[in-house]
Amino acid sequence: MVSYDVVVIGSGIAGASLAYFLSRSGFKTLVVDVKPFERIGDKPCGDAIGKHHFDELGLEAPPDDVIEGYVEGIDVYSPLEKVKYRVVGEGYEIHRVKYTKYLLSEAINRGVDFWGETQGVEPLVKEGFVVGVSVWVRGKGKHEVSSKILVDASGMARAIVRRLDDKWPVREDIDQKDLNIAYREVRRLKKEIEEPEILRIYVSKKIAPGGYWWFFPYSKERNVVNVGLGTQGGMNYPNPKDLLHQHIISREEFAGSEVIEAGGAAVPTRRPIKTLVWNGIAVTGDAAYAVNPVHGGGKGSAMLASWCISKSIIHALETGDSSARSLWEANICFNRRYGAKQAALDIFRLFLQKLSDDDLEYGMSRKIIKEEDLNEVSLRGDLELSVVEKAMRLLAGLSRPSLLFKLRRVAHYMSDVKRLYLNYPEEPEGLLKWYEEVEKLYSRFKEEIS
Ligand SMILES: Cc1cc2nc3c(=O)[nH]c(=O)nc-3n(C[C@H](O)[C@H](O)[C@H](O)COP(=O)(O)OP(=O)(O)OC[C@H]3O[C@@H](n4cnc5c(N)ncnc54)[C@H](O)[C@@H]3O)c2cc1C
Repeated sequence: MVSYDVVVIGSGIAGASLAYFLSRSGFKTLVVDVKPFERIGDKPCGDAIGKHHFDELGLEAPPDDVIEGYVEGIDVYSPLEKVKYRVVGEGYEIHRVKYTKYLLSEAINRGVDFWGETQGVEPLVKEGFVVGVSVWVRGKGKHEVSSKILVDASGMARAIVRRLDDKWPVREDIDQKDLNIAYREVRRLKKEIEEPEILRIYVSKKIAPGGYWWFFPYSKERNVVNVGLGTQGGMNYPNPKDLLHQHIISREEFAGSEVIEAGGAAVPTRRPIKTLVWNGIAVTGDAAYAVNPVHGGGKGSAMLASWCISKSIIHALETGDSSARSLWEANICFNRRYGAKQAALDIFRLFLQKLSDDDLEYGMSRKIIKEEDLNEVSLRGDLELSVVEKAMRLLAGLSRPSLLFKLRRVAHYMSDVKRLYLNYPEEPEGLLKWYEEVEKLYSRFKEEIS
């Protein structure tokens, strides 16, 4: 049997960035993907990523030739498109295939092995530890590969963790209602786009129930746009492709436009998985639900999860101990930097999904939450109670006081859940009890808003 220190299943942004981070350590690492090298990173995406993700991880900004456009901010439109909030922030529209291949190539140059057209089939388990994986190599058949640590970076396929017994805490299946079903097209328009450095998000229950639709220009070309739509899963809403065509592509600005690419996929939009690691195994990216629950962006948080996991893996390999305890720091690292905010944003997402278009139009036109507050919510997952209290005083006597009361409850829940995640258990033994608290808090919230 072939042996590696680390085997990574899947080479999307999560697997490729993990390989990149690990490649500096010199440990023997193998990455496998069902796709051939040429198609690495090729999946439907809005392609937007904030610059801060690279800064936070000490990564160089992506090279100019992998960038489709430079971003200076996002406009969020109300359901009637009468009100718009601008959230300023630098970012990129990134060429997903070129950037993922860039990360993987850097790792390969430093000694990481890559097997393309290879499917991770099943984890090998011995005495409570994952000790390897069986893989199916195209044209060569089935092989077993031993690993000290196996990483599931297979995206929503969750190809490895879903084959573990459900007593393993790294296997936590997802409720369909916590998924967003998204479809997007890259289109060349007949006319140049105004302000192509500004991305646009439109919230409208009528057009995109439980989600939103987006218009993300690739500013380098000026007339190319990534346009897509996502709806909440498990609700029997119409197909997002049909909704996009019916309500958006039928608009005047798309007349005569040409489709360059098209496709859809599911995105997890919930709090993170309860643990990123267990004995001999780690899970990262979409497979670990490391995605912003409000806007569905998952590339930056996938890189962060992989960065935290790489540090724990190096520690475990250096100490010769691949137990959950030895890998545990990955959870603390991720939750402090992102998971706590993600869990708070999950509360906000559940609240937003309950609002009607009228509520949203009213809330945005009355500036119940202002642009700067929206920025704070999206950057830190904080909806300051003082902001809500101020709005309640200012708007006293106006219609819909219930909306403000609800918002106050949301702010409380967001701060409570954030605190819980910042107090993530220091050791695996505390996980079950802690997670019971998390589940109780979410059930209470769901009951309150239902
Ligand atoms: C329509 C849409 C729009 C989006 N827009 C944005 C956006 O604008 N910005 C943003 O940040 N995020 C966005 N996201 C989310 C983002 O695309 C994901 O969060 C991110 O790509 C997750 O990366 P990943 O590496 O975890 O998973 P993936 O990119 O899905 O990669 C998983 C890899 O594993 C491989 N694989 C699967 N099963 C196996 C197996 N059994 N064996 C071997 N290999 C396997 C796959 O081939 C793939 O290469 C969007 C998602 C969708 C669907």
